[in-house]
Amino acid sequence: MQITFGCPAFCSFCFEGFDRKPYRELSLEDVWSTALALKKQMGPATLDLVSFNFNTYAGILPLLLKLSHLYDRVSFKSQRVDILAVMPGMLDAELTAGKRSYTIGVEGISGRMRAFLHKSLGNREIDNVINRLLHLKVREIKMFYILTGHETPSDIGEFRNFLRDLKHKRSGTRSGVRIVFSFGLLIRMPFTPLRYDRLFLEEQEWRGITGQVKSACETNGFEFRLAIPWADYATSQVLALGGYWLCDSLLSLAEEGYCYDSELAESYWAALKSWMQTNGHWSDNFLGEKNVDAEFPLEFLEQRISSTFLYQLFENAKAGVDDGYCLGEIGQLTGDTPDARCLACGACASSEERAAITQHRMQPPDPSYMAELSKTMVQKQRMKPLFALLWLPPETIGKSPAWLNAWVMRILLQAIPNQVENITLVRESLFSTRENLRRYAGLYGETVFAIYAWDVEAVTAGLVSTVSDMKGVRFLRWVNAFEPGTFQRAGLSITLPATHFPDAGQQLRRYLQDQYVPVNLRRIEDGYEFDIPKKALQKRIVYAGSFLQTSSTHCSKLVVSGKFDLMAYLQSFADPYWYNEAVVEVNDLEF
Ligand code: SF4
Repeated sequence: MQITFGCPAFCSFCFEGFDRKPYRELSLEDVWSTALALKKQMGPATLDLVSFNFNTYAGILPLLLKLSHLYDRVSFKSQRVDILAVMPGMLDAELTAGKRSYTIGVEGISGRMRAFLHKSLGNREIDNVINRLLHLKVREIKMFYILTGHETPSDIGEFRNFLRDLKHKRSGTRSGVRIVFSFGLLIRMPFTPLRYDRLFLEEQEWRGITGQVKSACETNGFEFRLAIPWADYATSQVLALGGYWLCDSLLSLAEEGYCYDSELAESYWAALKSWMQTNGHWSDNFLGEKNVDAEFPLEFLEQRISSTFLYQLFENAKAGVDDGYCLGEIGQLTGDTPDARCLACGACASSEERAAITQHRMQPPDPSYMAELSKTMVQKQRMKPLFALLWLPPETIGKSPAWLNAWVMRILLQAIPNQVENITLVRESLFSTRENLRRYAGLYGETVFAIYAWDVEAVTAGLVSTVSDMKGVRFLRWVNAFEPGTFQRAGLSITLPATHFPDAGQQLRRYLQDQYVPVNLRRIEDGYEFDIPKKALQKRIVYAGSFLQTSSTHCSKLVVSGKFDLMAYLQSFADPYWYNEAVVEVNDLEF
């Protein structure tokens, strides 16, 4: 669920910070009504908040509390580290709401490189966040960096010192947190200040930098990852900034047989480079630094931010000047801090748009906020589910547990709409356990769903067998004392196409025989019935059975216990991969 549009920052490498400006927020009321509608219309258990930086959203703390009440899980990923460092209660609230994995987008390996990238993030803020994370219950910290090609030995030295310090701090806290360092190579993007920068398209120019950074990470005991293979990087850079001539090169290489299908052939880059050299595009014009009058492709696209502004930021990047961004008060919450400074980028079309950003104020939480959030999370963890026996129609055959859970949640909430804020989670609990997922296929009919809710009595009052309009789903009864994944008896009506399951009745008999459950077949009308000796019954695998066989279809009816392995039977035929053609109705479940 999207809560903001655009990004208020001016990172010199980032397309989103320029192309999507100005930064805008949806109102808390709109976000709330969307969250309710999403839950009702789609039935998810987890809500993902979508935003370039969710923690710039003025009402993020109150929103987190409300959504934690509405959804089983609220997931939020991308955030600004400078705000996390200064915003009171932000980190505590995130941890209380269940966040355990942190992504820290540092980008530049030194203060100088961060200024070049206009990251508006200082050493103090990075240290502040990492020091706190190391002392908290965090599972993983992913540190994200971008290498620019401009790194000097002094930048790498600063990075090495940072790593040594971090290693020391981590060992001091005895924290088990996993810290991963992930690096990308800078792609100069169109419509950003760094489109004017020179390109680094010779692999050996990078080797010294990536090699030293990798060694610095590994020497200090941290994982190092390079996000992109060389051929992908170099090709992406040319595609991002190349002109209309790219069309000819792409066609020509396609005619040579190249295609992109999930990955790029390693030789693609050599072929593209050679094409550029032959056709006059491996030139200073394209590879070197560009001046303010340089022409770029796609100039006909209307942009609110002028080339002059982009070029000024490029000059600032080279001079190491980072003059921040224009979002008002992000951490002090005193309400009397001055407005932020408009950098006059040209993205805002009116003084109202400008004021919405420069006079932005974070909404402070109530004094009781943390206690309320913590209580909500603890209560949610301790919720005892209700178990409902439902009958599902054949259209649910073969659907994944996640699909089933969302589908049933949606149907329940549409049938009993006053439960939208009450029910937090609906989960199939009989055939979706890890063990049972391997043992059943083709099921529809009866099954058990766990329903988690703040007020279970309101659910039992609302969900009664007379509830109609459940899209073919029927509520049968509540099941008390249910152990997920288990049942005593179930009726299975199995239908199999004879083409892929030849002589399925005899095969069933042979399969049971192999399970030490010998059964005899007795002819009845146009089918057969199982005579199950007492000794075989004592195995408690199959209690009764019969089947009918026509030239096209096999239909059997079995009464089985949870020990009967349907999948093993379906895969006991010559070709085990047809098991997903089985259609099996479950009925008369006993627990
Ligand atoms: S015009 Fe000013 S307030 Fe609006 S996005 Fe640009 S710098 Fe920020």
